[in-house]
Amino acid sequence: MTLPYTLSRWSLADLFPTHDSAEMQAAFDSLEARVSSFEVNRARLSLDLPVAEFMDIVRQLEAASYQAYRIYGFAQLAFAADTQDQAASAFIGRVEQFMAGFQNRVLFFSLWWKELDAEPAARLMANAGDYRYWLEEMRHFKPHTLSEPEEKIINIKDVTGVSALHNLYDAITNRYVFKMEVDGEMKELTRGELMVYARHHDPDLRARAYQELYRVYGEEGPILGQMYQTLVRDWRNEQVDLRHFSSPISARNLINDIPDQVVDTLLEVCQRNAVLFQRYFRLKARWQGVERIRRYDVYAPVAKSEKRYDYAAAAKMVLDSFGEFDPNVASLAECVFAEDHLDSEVRKGKLGGAFCHTVVNDVTPWVLVNFQGRPDDVATLAHELGHAIHAMLAAQHSLFTFHSCLPLAETASTFGEMMLIDKLLAEETDAGVRRDMLFRQVDDAYATIMRQAFFALYERQAHELVQQGATADDLAGAYMENLRTQFGDAVDLSDEFRWEWVSISHIYQVPFYVYAYTFGQLLVFSLYQQYKAEGESFKPRYLKILSAGGSEAPARILAEAGIDIYSAEFWQGGFDVLAGLLDQLEAIPVTR
Ligand SMILES: [Zn+2]
Repeated sequence: MTLPYTLSRWSLADLFPTHDSAEMQAAFDSLEARVSSFEVNRARLSLDLPVAEFMDIVRQLEAASYQAYRIYGFAQLAFAADTQDQAASAFIGRVEQFMAGFQNRVLFFSLWWKELDAEPAARLMANAGDYRYWLEEMRHFKPHTLSEPEEKIINIKDVTGVSALHNLYDAITNRYVFKMEVDGEMKELTRGELMVYARHHDPDLRARAYQELYRVYGEEGPILGQMYQTLVRDWRNEQVDLRHFSSPISARNLINDIPDQVVDTLLEVCQRNAVLFQRYFRLKARWQGVERIRRYDVYAPVAKSEKRYDYAAAAKMVLDSFGEFDPNVASLAECVFAEDHLDSEVRKGKLGGAFCHTVVNDVTPWVLVNFQGRPDDVATLAHELGHAIHAMLAAQHSLFTFHSCLPLAETASTFGEMMLIDKLLAEETDAGVRRDMLFRQVDDAYATIMRQAFFALYERQAHELVQQGATADDLAGAYMENLRTQFGDAVDLSDEFRWEWVSISHIYQVPFYVYAYTFGQLLVFSLYQQYKAEGESFKPRYLKILSAGGSEAPARILAEAGIDIYSAEFWQGGFDVLAGLLDQLEAIPVTR
């Protein structure tokens, strides 16, 4: 055990000692051998393939993929730990090249499977057990799949195309240094350190932090915008022109196995509720004693508390809050600490932000955070550990079905955050700190629901604009329009926010990823209400959703818990919870 908890770097030893170790070479060799023997299966594939042989082929693919994920996982995690380390970046390049080759050599199986007619496919799938949904889902892509040589060319060209652009975007933007004068001292900050000031009680510091952020991104706006345009064109060329998806977002929706209609409904309900957050921003203006808040003040704290948590106390609080829900959930989270799978300290060159990466189903996930002691950092820790718990609860499924699909992927993480906030609220005696926490909860709901929904709306528009030949400046102009719709007359916008979109790595790395946050947070609000209303009897239903992992379509997993994602009322229900929270806040007499 690593108790007591201390800020540290993670260990990747559960994967490999180093990228140039004998163990790594052995893994490459064993993967090579597995792929070679898998290729022999090509001759066995036929309409009358016996079910047992079919399942044997599936398990062989799983075993090879397991090895591949371990190698790839190590490369990605080592790069995240130090994006400026040349060896890590060279290794990830080598691994990506190798993986494209691996994918191409096993590709014949999925292509054959997708091409198969419904009847033989149904016969082979009938007793596939845990692999059934994975097999079924693959066949959803039947109408969007190209021939084997075409698929191979796309894979190979992606290595030096989109993947290279993704890595360049990371390498370029993680190198940025932000300069700001604080208390008479000129500081050089990472983006994470800079954005701490976005939540500072001093309005001048908040403004200067944003101005510096978008000074740097804005100077690079044209070049980052050009990278975005290239990625957007690549997405359309491939998904719409070659694969015949009806729209760019539709390709993401099918990957998520969420019907287009559900995503449209979700985004429409969000647009209708933009007024709810505008109401919230007007309330914030009253607390700040101003006519109207500026965009700089969206995350301004209402109380002047500068509450800080030390790391050990934060870790304990998170684990305790999980334990109060279910001791088993807490002990799963504890494994992440105990096995040194948590990179918590702030380091130059380390990837900013936070994530949880589950490499394979039977190894404890890795979690990266940049802990600085703010209440936010504690919430982020709970969030990422929630992800880890989700993966660990679903570990009994196959390598292909344990990973929950994107829209459900944020369930345990946001639920974890809410359990933590409840605990903090219950234990905090200072009225100012409590009030600040409630405001923070709505701040965070804004950041995960409305902000992300408007990013998705922007992406939808940007993908059309690029198609029509829009320049980076045109895209920036459209972004300002998007912000004006979102904030109405409740927030003063300054011009530098036109470059905000080039600073959002999700829209570069995973087009249309962002609506999964909106989906997940609204879903969790609704689930949390059920938990509050039902108590103990809710827990097994919730744990069942999590332990289903990705072994079923999200609509079906949720339907079993009594949730209908097709209905606008369901999504509105999430906003109603929020409106209730807002009523509470508006009832507090404004003091300054
Ligand atoms: Zn998350």
